[in-house]
Amino acid sequence: MSIMNNFIINFCLLFTTITLLFLPFRNHPRITPKTNLNVRLVLGGIAGLISVLLMLNSIQIDVARIDLRIVPVVIAMMFGGLPSALVTGAMIIVTRFILTPVEQMDAAVVSTIVIGVLILTIAVVRRYIRLTFWNFELMIGIGIVYSLPGIYLLTNSWTTFIEISLAYIFFNLIAGFVTYHLLTELRRHFENIQYQQKLAMTDALTGLANRRRLDDSLSLVGSAEEGYSLILIDIDFFKHVNDTYGHDAGDDVLRQLGTTLASLARPDDLVGRYGGEEFLIILPNTSLADAKSIAELARTTVARNLFPTTAVPDLQITISLGIAHSSSSHTSLEALQQADKALYHSKDSGRNRSTTYTKQLQLEQA
Ligand code: GH3
Ligand code: MG
Ligand code: MG
Repeated sequence: MSIMNNFIINFCLLFTTITLLFLPFRNHPRITPKTNLNVRLVLGGIAGLISVLLMLNSIQIDVARIDLRIVPVVIAMMFGGLPSALVTGAMIIVTRFILTPVEQMDAAVVSTIVIGVLILTIAVVRRYIRLTFWNFELMIGIGIVYSLPGIYLLTNSWTTFIEISLAYIFFNLIAGFVTYHLLTELRRHFENIQYQQKLAMTDALTGLANRRRLDDSLSLVGSAEEGYSLILIDIDFFKHVNDTYGHDAGDDVLRQLGTTLASLARPDDLVGRYGGEEFLIILPNTSLADAKSIAELARTTVARNLFPTTAVPDLQITISLGIAHSSSSHTSLEALQQADKALYHSKDSGRNRSTTYTKQLQLEQA
């Protein structure tokens, strides 16, 4: 019964530590033998730490110390390859020597040989196999096969050996099964979250930032020290495009305009679809003059280019733009309202033009 209890404690330690230590890696792509060496060494260290915890809770029978330490070794080897496993192996061996009384040093030597041979075997086999559940379990199996002679050497009677071996085989295989599935599920879960987060911030039609992402970004630039600019863009007579060529042609135009605007933006600018046929560019750390030249570049590029759709190969559109700078506003919402007023002025004064918001403009409109 105490053997079972000790294995169950090992079990709980293994799964708790794997789950906790996975968390810092949750947004990191899956570690493979091609991953950056430092990351793989950290993985080896983490697997080593888990092994040490397992060893501190070993079942001690005669001079044998029995636990689930081969599972972290297989994790290190299968995910990170040899460098990871060498770190894990070194930590296991050092711990084994520290925990072993001087008169039982041959037990530590046996344990070192088992871990060493296991790592070398998986290092060779790993080159020819993919990381699948059955291969993972196969490596656990090899670990068990290598450990049994060691356990036999370090226990005093056949009955003890048989009893402990059966539990050892059973718990290691189950631990391999649960560990593999736990890691796979954790990976899937966090990849799914990342994917959903991306979807929640992306406009489905154009692939640009959507309104939620633009609003988030507006509140961020709004609290930044540097001055920022906003360019609000609206397609001229877009209803006419829809009415004449159909909604699908309208969608095509929106997609192409999105691509055009994104290609003109600088790396730190954020281009998004604010709604309907209205786009917003947030330009952090940008003067009004620079924003004005980017807006004019966008306007002239759109006016010069064709926007071919399946319905019309030579469709032309124009856009009207409104530009505002943070210096004349207190909040990003005010800056956006100013860009909107400037855009309205562009529409009102003939379309296909850009207007910069100034106090004077406000007076003119009042
Ligand atoms: P103005 O120059 O004054 O901006 O004229 P406009 O026709 O562009 O303005 P209006 O606001 O009257 O029409 C906007 C149109 O944009 C109406 C709507 O059908 C169309 N629209 C909004 N969202 C979408 C969309 O996702 N796809 C398509 N195809 N059309 C859209
Ligand atoms: Mg509009
Ligand atoms: Mg419009």
